[in-house]
Amino acid sequence: MQFSDLGLTPELLQSIEEQGYSEPTPVQQKAIPPILLGRDVMAAAQTGTGKTASFTLPMLQRLKGHANSSVSPARHPVRALILVPTRELAAQVEESARTYGKNIPLRVASVFGGVPIDPQIAALRAGIEILVATPGRLLDHIQSKMVMFHAVEFLVLDEADRMLDMGFLPDIKRIIAMLPHKRQTLLFSATYSDEIRNLAAQWLRDPVQVEVAPRNAVTETVTHTVYRVDSRAKRDALVKLLRHRDMRQVLVFCNTKIGANRLAYRLQKDQLNAAAIHSDRTQAERMQALAEFKEGQIRILVATDIAARGLDIEQLPFVVNFDIPSNPEDYVHRIGRTGRAGLRGEAISLVALEDFDALAAVEKLIKQKLQVAEMPPSGVDRQARSNEKQRDTDPLFHQPYVSAHRAKAQPAAEPRPLGAVASKKKEKQIAALFLPPASKPDA
Ligand code: AMP
Repeated sequence: MQFSDLGLTPELLQSIEEQGYSEPTPVQQKAIPPILLGRDVMAAAQTGTGKTASFTLPMLQRLKGHANSSVSPARHPVRALILVPTRELAAQVEESARTYGKNIPLRVASVFGGVPIDPQIAALRAGIEILVATPGRLLDHIQSKMVMFHAVEFLVLDEADRMLDMGFLPDIKRIIAMLPHKRQTLLFSATYSDEIRNLAAQWLRDPVQVEVAPRNAVTETVTHTVYRVDSRAKRDALVKLLRHRDMRQVLVFCNTKIGANRLAYRLQKDQLNAAAIHSDRTQAERMQALAEFKEGQIRILVATDIAARGLDIEQLPFVVNFDIPSNPEDYVHRIGRTGRAGLRGEAISLVALEDFDALAAVEKLIKQKLQVAEMPPSGVDRQARSNEKQRDTDPLFHQPYVSAHRAKAQPAAEPRPLGAVASKKKEKQIAALFLPPASKPDA
């Protein structure tokens, strides 16, 4: 299927072509046509599936008639409200709406906490048609009467499951109560709990259901390796693994901020190149750590679920669960960051005795029994070696890390990660994912 088969206008087809997307992803194929017809849509899709374009493109098309170049704020009321759980996702969705809508003069802005409020107030005063927001900061603006919703035609709840996990439900309810009843509502969620289904039944009218992967599914391209480790020896075990296995860009998940901080500190003390991101770090610090990780300057990024959510750090070869998440759906989110687009990835979990209940909950959710192995003395076992061998044939492990956004500027490499496009401009190569065996890691 081609994008032109979906009924999108030439302006949008042009920006899609400029992005280098050759064909719509499954979620785009299924969600764009009903959204263009004005239907409510409830879609099960994770980050990395192309979900942002699946709602942004048809939304831009439906709002196109409102585009105008008047300087009067009254001519630019909020027409679409996109609620997202995190600042990072807000910034990414805003960027996508700008990119896809570059040939349609609709104004786009995002408001989220952790950054100065004044530029946001100035943008709201000037008038915005497409507003991307995290619920808390949006309520601040509502309270100071900076934003009106009388003209809202579109509501998008992006990563709805995560917004509920983060306790945003009361805020979202307050916001939705202020919106016109006559509107189109789109709900995107990586996982569907019964609560999400109940809320969708209240907020959406006769929604078209779009499912691109089975509910709570994990991709078959991810190898799960589970090591049984004494809880006090987890940090040593991880250091050992990182020293002995040929792992470059590694995203390590901890359940708590303090745990993430401690682990990053310990890794740094062990001369391993690590940084932590969690919600106590400022926006600037998080962005910097992420940028350095993408550039290959930081090898190990230690994250909490909330901080990592919505970050464009797809196509990773390794995800490590230092802690098993207490919410089993987080396991699906975490490992969804590896094994993308048919390429192989590995999810390594360190499991202590007290984690076995949480592991059982994960197994139940993903309907898969995970084999638990003892940690090999050297940190490397046969499974690891066989995974490494497999990687020899997989180009992902030999390419420099390219985030989906960065990929847009990269020369074509086969196979391309989702989001990667051919470009005439040759970009400077960055550190390879894996050093050749003779080189020293973290040098
Ligand atoms: P998302 O799931 O919205 O976070 O999208 C993940 C990445 O996929 C983004 O960097 C997009 O630029 C990219 N992308 C979206 N649609 C397509 C497509 N049809 N083909 C290739 N890449 C895409």
